[in-house]
Amino acid sequence: MTELTLAQRLEAVKDRISSAATKAHRGIADIELVVVTKNHSAELPLALLELGESNFGENRDQEASAKARLVSEQNPGRAIWHFVGQLQSNKVKSMLEYTAVLHSLDRTSLLTELNKQLAKDSESRLQAFIELNLTADPNRGGLDPSSLKEFAELVLANPQIQLLGVMGVVGLGVEPEVDFERIAKASQVLMEIAPEAKFISAGMSGDFEEAIGFGATHLRIGTAITGNR
Ligand SMILES: *Cc1c(COP(=O)(O)O)cnc(C)c1O
Repeated sequence: MTELTLAQRLEAVKDRISSAATKAHRGIADIELVVVTKNHSAELPLALLELGESNFGENRDQEASAKARLVSEQNPGRAIWHFVGQLQSNKVKSMLEYTAVLHSLDRTSLLTELNKQLAKDSESRLQAFIELNLTADPNRGGLDPSSLKEFAELVLANPQIQLLGVMGVVGLGVEPEVDFERIAKASQVLMEIAPEAKFISAGMSGDFEEAIGFGATHLRIGTAITGNR
């Protein structure tokens, strides 16, 4: 059996995204693909840029900052970096140097550090999703959905942060539909106070088609495109 190439895996995923969008009566233009390039070297995002992809997701600052630097040296100004993992406050300063979109804003201490670092440069901007914890385990990343409005008010108070919407990772051993429905409901709640924060970051390699059915606008897809590592 010959292994598929990166281009073939990317095409296959994009075809599946199109079919799922059609099935959900949604426009493909409203769905953004973020290719999660974690655990891969800078060669991968560079190859994906050649294939026309420019949105890349990472989950560890040390790895991401080095990779973003290498990519920008070889292909300046094209890659758009999304930080999708749990973020320690002491990594905020570094993360802001390359990240356009933070998908994992999930607690007050992280927001406080973001406010502090962003205030150092009035020109700097960050787009962010509030990550929800859909599990019963408080040690998992993400905000308790019952605190969403209260936390969103604090985020909205900083004009340097553009709140895009909510983000969620489906819990293990849970029917994805159950969690996608909860994310969609949280999105409605958020839009009551921030109508423009209408985006939903949800859907990974194993469940992105279902996520599209529940309104996901930003798919974070790794292994289905990049292969295992
Ligand atoms: C790794 C990761 C993904 C991508 O997962 P795949 O199953 O490889 O598609 C998406 N979101 C987050 C937060 C991740 O850490």
